[in-house]
Amino acid sequence: MRAGYIDAVKSACFRDDMPEPQIVKPDDVKIRIHKCGICGSEVHAYHGVHPFRIPPLVSGHEYAGEIVEIGSAVKKFKVGDRVTGEPQYGCGECWYCRHGMYNLCTSRKVLGSGGWSGSLGEYIVTPERTVVPLDDRLSYEEGALIEPVANGMYAVRHAGVDENTTMCIIGAGPIGIGDLLCAQLYHAKKIIITDIVDFNLQKAKEMGAEYTINNRTENLYERVMELTDGLGVDMTFLAFGDGPTLQQAAEITRRDGKIIQHAMMVDGLPFPYEVHQQHQLDFKAYQMYVYEDFEILCKAIADGKLDLSHFVSQRYPIEQFKEAMIMADERPEPVLKVMVSFD
Ligand SMILES: [Zn+2]
Ligand SMILES: [Zn+2]
Repeated sequence: MRAGYIDAVKSACFRDDMPEPQIVKPDDVKIRIHKCGICGSEVHAYHGVHPFRIPPLVSGHEYAGEIVEIGSAVKKFKVGDRVTGEPQYGCGECWYCRHGMYNLCTSRKVLGSGGWSGSLGEYIVTPERTVVPLDDRLSYEEGALIEPVANGMYAVRHAGVDENTTMCIIGAGPIGIGDLLCAQLYHAKKIIITDIVDFNLQKAKEMGAEYTINNRTENLYERVMELTDGLGVDMTFLAFGDGPTLQQAAEITRRDGKIIQHAMMVDGLPFPYEVHQQHQLDFKAYQMYVYEDFEILCKAIADGKLDLSHFVSQRYPIEQFKEAMIMADERPEPVLKVMVSFD
């Protein structure tokens, strides 16, 4: 099959001779991929710094496509169905799985890693329970964008964002924009989004952001205080995180507020212990999402409540995977999401 292949660190290529994954278990479905997004985690894999996406591999986990074959026990789907899916499943038996938190299962399988051939290949095989039907009103590209936005849906739902919430999102990359879109769906009262790249802030504006702040040229603390009558925001979502932004997050969050860690951050960063205690903050992280987040998003897009048409910044056919990977990594032009197509 055709595939985008990361064969070694900093080396990506197109291959048309990769082995096609085959149905093994009765509840497996086989999907022909139409669109697949390139995620920051693929860039990490490309650099050889991802904990479990280790080259050589066919990576990819943000997909939409059509079912081409089903296992003997598959009930909900048939050949020809248009679908997207969660790129993860739990063992089904551990404490987390039994409590509905399979996203935290310690034996969790993740598409595009650990020998599970990812959706940068033309075909994937995945258990039926991970597969989400794609409404006719959704394009394959929208379907492939549900995964990155689902991170925001899970975080926004669990953080309890509602119509009274004031919030600041630090980082207007795909995760931060996902937080923005989902917070809008939950009618958050005031959403401030900040980045140091004007292109990302422009993208946020195109997707309805009312308050954008360039954290390099403007004073984030002062602007947030102006916008919140000197109080600070109820919640700060860290969609980017290093030491200085952690400190900023603590300072702009009102007392008894919450900081949501939503970026991949490294251990050993200085933690703002003093402000954290003075502000009596709640510091919480979220990891991936669950099936329901995909369903909610699918419906919101179908109902016209969520517009993803501004999300993709570059599109490539799979044959140009090398160029796509270089674009996602080196960013010779501004990038929000690079989308690869098998059409
Ligand atoms: Zn991703
Ligand atoms: Zn488990």
